[in-house]
Amino acid sequence: MTISIEKDIKYCPHCGGRLEKRYLEGKRRYYCPSCDRVIYQNPVPVVLAVAYNNKGEILLVKRGVEPEKGKWSLVAGFLEMDESPEKGVLRELREEAGLAGKLEKLLNVYSQDSKRYGSIIAIAYIVKVDGTPMPGDDAEDARFFKTEDIPYLPFESHRKALMDGLKEIMKNRTP
Ligand SMILES: [Zn+2]
Repeated sequence: MTISIEKDIKYCPHCGGRLEKRYLEGKRRYYCPSCDRVIYQNPVPVVLAVAYNNKGEILLVKRGVEPEKGKWSLVAGFLEMDESPEKGVLRELREEAGLAGKLEKLLNVYSQDSKRYGSIIAIAYIVKVDGTPMPGDDAEDARFFKTEDIPYLPFESHRKALMDGLKEIMKNRTP
């Protein structure tokens, strides 16, 4: 897997000057000659929830926004500035599914290429939730799925997190 997709930018976000491409520190990078600054491009952090209820069903939301609008996915979203991943994942859960949750553990961290955002780092948590999901602004629908009914998820990081998360959840539910 290559994680090298760069966002195409033309102007310096600091001074508005026209950017050049230069070979710096082993890589072609954007450079602003007017303010003598390298414009580093870094992966974008996303938080992901493998959220389950007391029946062991998994919460999915039907995406109301692109990319992959109309498809089911895990609760996920971009971290806000000054927000911890723990707070961010619970905020996304409230916003997308109208549910409060309890963080159980950090599941794993996944990297994924994204046509729209370059490369993404997904920080995934296992979250215990109860109550009835209520889709929020970014979601067309939100509901729990029995594991055998979970549809194919459009994002690689979600598929990996789901697989890893199910293993953990099953392990803890074994009587
Ligand atoms: Zn500049």
